[in-house]
Amino acid sequence: MSKTPVSFEFFPPKSDEGLEKLIKVQQKLLVKEPEFFSVTYGAGGSTRDRTWNTVMKVREAGVDTAPHLSCVGQSREELVELVERYQAEGITRIVVLRGDLPSGMGAAQSELRFADDLVRLIREVSGDHFHLEVAAYPEMHPQARSFSDDLDHFKRKIDAGANSGITQYFFNAEAYAYFMEQMEKRGVTAPVVPGIMPITNAANLMRFSDACGADIPRWIRKRLEEYQRVGDDASVKAFGEEVVTGLCEKLLAMGAPALHFYTMNQSVPNLRILDNLGL
Ligand code: FAD
Repeated sequence: MSKTPVSFEFFPPKSDEGLEKLIKVQQKLLVKEPEFFSVTYGAGGSTRDRTWNTVMKVREAGVDTAPHLSCVGQSREELVELVERYQAEGITRIVVLRGDLPSGMGAAQSELRFADDLVRLIREVSGDHFHLEVAAYPEMHPQARSFSDDLDHFKRKIDAGANSGITQYFFNAEAYAYFMEQMEKRGVTAPVVPGIMPITNAANLMRFSDACGADIPRWIRKRLEEYQRVGDDASVKAFGEEVVTGLCEKLLAMGAPALHFYTMNQSVPNLRILDNLGL
C-alpha cells in the first residue's frame, strides 16, 4: 500500500504573501513524496499569470508540477503561446480542461469548445512532450447530454491523446467502480485517478457540491448539517476525516491507481487522511 502514488492540487494565491504561505503548506506535503503537484487555472484565463507564477514557484521543490489549462473564453493563439512557454520552461505535465465560462461570456466566443479540442491542439503543437490529464465524472458532468454521452466523451478525450484522468470528487465509491467498468467496456485502459476532497467545512462543501454536481449522500449531509447547526467545527472535521479515509480505503481496495487531493491549499486534512491510510 505504501507505494500508492499521491498528488496534490493547489489554487493560485492572490498575493505574494499568499504564495509564501502556500509554499509552507507545500513543504509539509512533501513528506508524502507526491508524484506531482498541480495548479488550477481560472475561468477564461482569469488566473493566467498567477497560475504561471505559482507553477514556477511550486516546482522549485524539484517535484513535477502541472499547470491546469482550460480552453473556453480564450483564443487558439493565446493557448498555443502558453503551451509553448510551458514546454520551453521544461514543464512536462498539463491538466487539460474545457473550464467554465465566466458569467456573461457566450460559448460562441471560444475557438475551442471542449477539452478534447484542447488535447488535440496540445498534441499538434508539442507532440508527445506533455503527459496530459483530463477530467472524469463518475457522477456525470452536470451539463452532459446524457450519462452515456459523458462516458463516451471521456473516451473521446483519451482517443484525442490524453494519457490519464482525474475525477471530480465524489463520496460514493460505487460510482467510481461503475465508471471504471464502463470504461473497460469501451476499451479504455488509461488510468483514472480518484479526486479526493477532504471535508473540513460543511457549508463550503455543500455549496461547491451543488455547483459541480457532486452528490453528498444523505447520511453524510445529515450529520454535517447537524454539526453545522450547532457550530461544531471540530466534529465536522473529525467526521469528515473518518468518511474520506473510509472512501480512500474502498477506492484503493477497488484498484484505484493513485489518489489526487483537492487540498484547498491546506496541509493538515490531507496529511491526516494519508496518515490514517498508512501512506
Ligand atoms: P469537457 O470534457 O469538455 O466536457 C464538458 C461537457 O461537455 C460535458 O458535460 C461533456 O459531456 C459535454 N460534451 C463534450 N463534448 C460534447 C459535444 N460535442 N457536444 C455537446 N456536449 C459535449 N475548472 C477550472 O476552471 N479550472 C481548473 O483548473 C479546473 N480543474 C479541474 C480539475 C479536475 C480534475 C476536474 C475534474 C475539474 C476541474 N475543473 C476546473 C472544472 C471543469 O473545468 C468543469 O467541470 C467544466 O465544466 C468542464 O470541464 P471539462 O474539461 O470536464 O469539459
